[in-house]
Amino acid sequence: HGQAGRLYTEEDPLVILTSDTLKQTLFNSSTAWLVQFYSSWCGHCIQYSPTWKALAGDVKDWSQAIRIGVLDCAHEKNFDICKEFSIHFYPTFRYFKAHSTAFDIGKTYRGADREIQTVRQLMVNFLQNHTRRDWPAGCPPLEPARTENIQPLIGLKSDHYTAVIIEDEESYIGREVILDLMPYEGMVVKRVLNSEKVLMEKLGISTAPAAYLFYPNGTHAGMDVQKRIRFFFSSFLKLLPGVHRKQPSSVQQPEQAAIKDQSTSELFKEFDKSKVYMVDLESGLHYLLRVELATHKTLEGVELKTFKDFVTVVAKLFPGRQSVVKLLETLLEWLISLPLEKIPYEAILDLANNKMRISGLHLSERVQWLGCQGSSVALRGYPCSLWTLFHVLTVQAASRPDALANTALEDDPLAVLQTMRQYIGTFFGCRECGKHFEEMAQESMSQVKSLDEAVLWLWRKHNQVNARLAGSMSEDPMFPKTQWPTPDLCPTCHEEQDGLHVWNEDMVLAFLKKHYSAANISPKYTS
Ligand code: FAD
Repeated sequence: HGQAGRLYTEEDPLVILTSDTLKQTLFNSSTAWLVQFYSSWCGHCIQYSPTWKALAGDVKDWSQAIRIGVLDCAHEKNFDICKEFSIHFYPTFRYFKAHSTAFDIGKTYRGADREIQTVRQLMVNFLQNHTRRDWPAGCPPLEPARTENIQPLIGLKSDHYTAVIIEDEESYIGREVILDLMPYEGMVVKRVLNSEKVLMEKLGISTAPAAYLFYPNGTHAGMDVQKRIRFFFSSFLKLLPGVHRKQPSSVQQPEQAAIKDQSTSELFKEFDKSKVYMVDLESGLHYLLRVELATHKTLEGVELKTFKDFVTVVAKLFPGRQSVVKLLETLLEWLISLPLEKIPYEAILDLANNKMRISGLHLSERVQWLGCQGSSVALRGYPCSLWTLFHVLTVQAASRPDALANTALEDDPLAVLQTMRQYIGTFFGCRECGKHFEEMAQESMSQVKSLDEAVLWLWRKHNQVNARLAGSMSEDPMFPKTQWPTPDLCPTCHEEQDGLHVWNEDMVLAFLKKHYSAANISPKYTS
């Protein structure tokens, strides 16, 4: 019962409404709304809440056209408002049009089918019920385009791409992709019915659904996706060069100043997204040892233990160059041999700088990002390298289960994750990040029972962070936060079940083990 009223939290991708906010939110809203009036004691509402959250996550990018809300009628504060809105049963689903200027209790959805795909399609239908006058301002047209609208695009130069989804009249893919791309600039998506035979023939398309792309430079071509499903089309379009998420206007994000990297703003270097770069990993270690740790004058107690564990894990698992591994091992031996309960940071720095340099062991001299380059100095860099490092370490632990033998972390499937958790909580400069990560760890880390599960746990949590940060200030417009790996990197990782995107976790695990393996780490720019 401690959970009462907490079926939904601020972390969920939906809006929690109350008697204080309901009317002012719905009245003259620039977007349409779909609100679930529920009761926190109704068993069915509790069982349904994961579906509702999944739906809200699935249509998060539609929020300039239609938004998802919840209101708890079991909360004393909301008794009156639920009466006023004539809510008799729970859950009750109500649609509210955009720009309603009179008091409106909305339209109830009475269907028995509350599956995500059905409700999502109803949302599309509901949007289309708006008239030209009350059309949500941010919502692009959803009506099919005609041959005569598309034909002139052939050979035409433009400042944006136009993607055309050719499909059956009953299909929702085109409209869903239009809405998915709504928060992105540089891309216009249109839907064309496959009854437009002339156009189909002109573009050489024989089966629907299909997608066609008109490039800004005036060229055009069929869109080559492995599966002709919504998620593949949308992902493909979001990842095109020049397509960016529009800058968020209001939402402020946690201060990132503490973790800004030090790289000079050099020219952008080309890199391959399907590779991991040693230079990022080494720069991350360099920054961690020389900058992040330096803010702690002495290490003792939890800090010292955390640092020792961290050095143990990297010394044993880091698939680095021989000189770097040797450096880490020297550091570890030194830490273990010291009977001190307190180590001044200066001593660690000394060791890293002098002794190791003399013996020819070294890390890169400065931070330099390649796969973790940002479009500006404040973006990506160090936090990106830290994620990458821990993914590499979980994968190494899974492929070399004996690597931690004879250390304090022996035989623990959670060794890497706990070390990461301790490190992030104790040293990571971004405090907010640490707090969020600790919450996620408390919630589910203890369920991890094997080294493979540890690999998947970190992947899942990283995606959770990506989802939370999509569209926020810390998102680099050149590198939009997506659910990863994207279909271009791993087509078999993605499936569709009842119209909802699902992961094939066996495939994801296999992909992660390959992507973050030593064999996939490129030595480019390491000197
Ligand atoms: P990153 O998210 O840093 O990812 C780096 C690379 O990892 C990607 O380029 C991709 O190749 C790969 N990748 C992406 N997703 C996955 C996945 N699911 N599994 C495996 N590999 C993947 N910033 C905030 O503003 N607020 C926070 O609360 C916050 N919490 C954080 C918590 C932790 C533990 C860490 C390490 C960082 C946190 N950050 C937070 C920073 C943020 O997550 C990003 O690291 C930062 O914004 C840089 O983003 P990026 O585009 O380089 O991609």
